[in-house]
Amino acid sequence: MRSGTRLIVDLSLLKKNIELLKKEYAPENEIIFMIKADAYGHGIEQVLEYSFTEAGIKIFGVASFEEALFCRKALPELDFDIWVFSDLALFENKSNYQKYKITPVLHDIEQVEIFNKNIEFKSLPLVIKFNTGMNRLGISEDELSELIILLKNHNIKSIDHIMTHLSSSYLPKRSDDMTSAQLLRFEKIKEELKKNDISFKASSCANSGAIEQKRGLEESHIRPGLMLYGPQSTFTKKRLWKGSLISKLEVRILKISTLKSGETFGYGNTRLSEDGYLINLAIGYGDGISTSLQNTYLKHLDLQIKGRVNMDMLFLFSKTKPKLSVGDQITLWSEDYQQIQELCEASGRIPYEILTNITQRVPRVYNK
Ligand SMILES: *Cc1c(COP(=O)(O)O)cnc(C)c1O
Repeated sequence: MRSGTRLIVDLSLLKKNIELLKKEYAPENEIIFMIKADAYGHGIEQVLEYSFTEAGIKIFGVASFEEALFCRKALPELDFDIWVFSDLALFENKSNYQKYKITPVLHDIEQVEIFNKNIEFKSLPLVIKFNTGMNRLGISEDELSELIILLKNHNIKSIDHIMTHLSSSYLPKRSDDMTSAQLLRFEKIKEELKKNDISFKASSCANSGAIEQKRGLEESHIRPGLMLYGPQSTFTKKRLWKGSLISKLEVRILKISTLKSGETFGYGNTRLSEDGYLINLAIGYGDGISTSLQNTYLKHLDLQIKGRVNMDMLFLFSKTKPKLSVGDQITLWSEDYQQIQELCEASGRIPYEILTNITQRVPRVYNK
């Protein structure tokens, strides 16, 4: 663990983001809040507890059964729903899904078979994911007849929730784009089900990129992840989503040195080409700061990351004497959306990656 370096998570900003999402994007939709990967690096337990008790979110999504089980065990007194989206290990965890009220999102025929054959799943909703072109998980159009036969054999006339996942919703909308093609295929799947007298009670397809561009909102549910943590998912310069970043990365200054032009420092002996001050920060790639951030200019600090990012520290360079002292903390990013955006542009990383990379050595501190 670190002491002066920490990720400060402002949960009241999460609430604001949820309110903004509901008010301006999706007043009619129910939210399935994606909190996989430790709530995109922010701490799954705290994010879940707060958004359930303070912001009215009732359904949460994670990738693996173990993530869901962790949530249930951490917060046994809260009656939230939690859905597992990809790594189900359905058969192995047969008895635990129902016991812990965890809902598997079934993504192939075999899983639908297991789910319906075993009374262990009886009390859970039937949720099925369809593949509409992402070709990752999900039941495809050409397996639909097999699914329909299977459901009929089990005398199932209604699916609780059907969904699909969009592969390219982060790209700016075009009339003939992949998202349009996927939405069309999803409609076809719905028609085919209806034709065969199989109804569905709810549906979803929109992730952050889609929601930001107001697509897929005709379904009953939406599944935002990234946008609720603050960053925009869509690749546009134009700001479509005006959420606040819910975290602030505070970093302690370990040392400030004066170096002359020609002197070297750190791994690889980076050579300075001018006199200046080197500010040594208590954070490195061992804390999840990518080495691809080397030489990034941080506009909000008016300082440049100089040389390689080391495992436990990195260096900022200033030509003039910085108005900072050893022990001070500076922020690598804060609520201002622009700051993390700049880190993404400089490093060629996506905000998802920057946020989920922050390791457990960096303590999370919560403000409400
Ligand atoms: C992670 C995930 C989401 C959320 O995606 P964002 O881009 O973070 O909004 C939605 N649906 C599924 C199936 C996911 O796995």
